[in-house]
Amino acid sequence: MSIILPDLPYAKDALEPYISANTLAFHHGKHHNAYVDNLNKLIAGTGLEGKSLEEIIQAAANDPGKTGVFNNAAQVWNHTFYWNCLKKEGGGPPTGAIADKINATFGSYDKFVEELKNAGMTQFGSGWAWLVQDGNDVKITKTPNADTPMAHGQKALLTIDVWEHAYYLDYQNRRPDYLTAVISKLINWDFVNANLA
Ligand code: MN
Repeated sequence: MSIILPDLPYAKDALEPYISANTLAFHHGKHHNAYVDNLNKLIAGTGLEGKSLEEIIQAAANDPGKTGVFNNAAQVWNHTFYWNCLKKEGGGPPTGAIADKINATFGSYDKFVEELKNAGMTQFGSGWAWLVQDGNDVKITKTPNADTPMAHGQKALLTIDVWEHAYYLDYQNRRPDYLTAVISKLINWDFVNANLA
């Protein structure tokens, strides 16, 4: 069985005006889809064919001979996770258990926003900003390229894609404006709470 491209969890124009239908058409239909196609080609006829995406990522994470498999598998997983981190009329301060965790860890929502934005802005080149669970702690991290928290024993709670393809059509080089829009208008805190085990 092949790895498949999941549908977006909302219509392509659902995140406008913050992320355009044009961006989602390219980002999901071209970029995400290409990672799926590449991964299926790379694992065809190998022992990884038929494994779950998570199993493929873990198997390839520490194998220098499987860098291409890791990069494509992790990008498939990261993108599916990212789509679910967003929703129409999301963003702003969280509710539920994650609100308590954020206040306890960062002191305030504003401080959390500052640190998350900073992680996204200071990721040099392509990558991802994350809120992760690491043991009993929650923390903000960033990863380059395809790298993903599960390869480091962490559980992803929230991510923002900071590859240029995520924002260039809508924001050109203004990555900070994209980060501000996602954080204040699009984060799906219900999904983040569901990830908090
Ligand atoms: Mn992307």
